[in-house]
Amino acid sequence: MKTEEFRRATCCVIGCGPAGAMLGLMLARGGIDVLVLEKHADFLRDFRGDTLHPSTMEIMDELGLADGLLELEHTKVPRIEARLPGGTFTVADLGRLKTRYPYITFMPQWDFLDYVTGEAKRYPNFRLEMEAEAKKLILDDAIVRGVRYETPEGPREARALLTVAADGRSSSFREQAGLKMVKTSPPIDVLWFRLSRRDGDPEDTFGYAGGGRFMVVINRGEYWQIAYVIRKGEYESVRADGLEAFRRSVGETIPDLADRTGELQDWEAVKLLSVQADRLRRWHRPGLLCIGDAAHAMSPVGGVGINLAIADAVAAANMLVRPLGEGRVRSRDLMAVQLRRELPTRAIQAFQSVAQRRVISSSLGPDGAPSLPAPARALLSLRPVRDLPARMIAFGIWPEHVKRGESSARTGRTPVASEESAK
Ligand SMILES: Cc1cc2nc3c(=O)[nH]c(=O)nc-3n(C[C@H](O)[C@H](O)[C@H](O)COP(=O)(O)OP(=O)(O)OC[C@H]3O[C@@H](n4cnc5c(N)ncnc54)[C@H](O)[C@@H]3O)c2cc1C
Repeated sequence: MKTEEFRRATCCVIGCGPAGAMLGLMLARGGIDVLVLEKHADFLRDFRGDTLHPSTMEIMDELGLADGLLELEHTKVPRIEARLPGGTFTVADLGRLKTRYPYITFMPQWDFLDYVTGEAKRYPNFRLEMEAEAKKLILDDAIVRGVRYETPEGPREARALLTVAADGRSSSFREQAGLKMVKTSPPIDVLWFRLSRRDGDPEDTFGYAGGGRFMVVINRGEYWQIAYVIRKGEYESVRADGLEAFRRSVGETIPDLADRTGELQDWEAVKLLSVQADRLRRWHRPGLLCIGDAAHAMSPVGGVGINLAIADAVAAANMLVRPLGEGRVRSRDLMAVQLRRELPTRAIQAFQSVAQRRVISSSLGPDGAPSLPAPARALLSLRPVRDLPARMIAFGIWPEHVKRGESSARTGRTPVASEESAK
């Protein structure tokens, strides 16, 4: 093999989604030599979740990057409402939370990833290889030493002290590493599509339920992004009923948009997301750590997947910069990352599971009509309880904060531990 076909790094990150990009940035900022491999040629991806919650915005703020990020085109959604047959009901009012960012920031994921990797590239110790598809872990005495990958120029090998699988919910490295998964079976799938926004349309983001249907309508500035929830496995029968029936059902459920359902010209405009939720029992083995969707695929309920993936990256960077810098990452360092992130992940997955079964799934079907039981309504009228859904959506249950300062790699200064306390 020729010399240029080898790469060496202290940490090799597989996948440059939200988890991989943020980990790459934070490790580079901590002075670690990091190589990120991304199989695609660019970050263009639609319907992949474009929601940055207050927890993520606070992290960007701590990195000194929030203002720059907010200069990119985005929309702010402070409130999520549900339109039910019995009236409109506020699910979460983030505007009431104590944070500099009391809203969900909607921004195309590719803009976010371009921005984060653009910032990371300012550090000479950050390398990103696009069109680099990781294929096979390199194992030596049962320790992961790196990964073999394919590029348009041919096969390559990256050797690293630590390899991080941040390659999303279809990660093959979990199996290669013999890591076992706990799978749940969400009862829903989601169809995604867009309709135009017009003058006089409402500003808010809504959930619509009634008549056996459940849809979420997200204000994306020039267009509405719509999630049309179906029962798992129902996609073929929705298609068999025909596009006209589909357009009609959208118009009946969201009367405000009935005048433009004709924009859906063919099924190409409607993307299926097969909802998946799982998590690894163990997120690591010697030389390898899994984070983000690779460790725990999230249902789209609540739009929290990106934010959890970013929180994993922040926790991993906070805990691993020192061992990586010292050239020795032990199993207990990797276990500490899992211990820190597993509880918030399980709590959110439990919350999503209840929402999917009790609210969303039960409102699908001919007689489905979601309603809130009287005790729940009474509880939700109490002020501290009323803010709970907003707090869960905004921060989860264990928000991460940036702990390590910038290294000399970019600033010429030595690392400073700012040790901000977690909320
Ligand atoms: C249709 C849909 C809608 C969603 N909506 C939302 C939402 O509104 N809000 C939200 O917060 N979350 C949403 N999610 C979930 C969210 O997208 C994920 O939770 C989040 O992207 C996870 O980030 P990640 O970095 O772990 O993985 P991913 O975003 O999946 O990134 C993995 C990266 O690894 C790359 N990759 C994969 N295999 C390899 C390989 N072998 N070699 C090199 N690179 C590789 C991929 O190209 C990708 O860039 C949605 C998901 C889907 C599918």
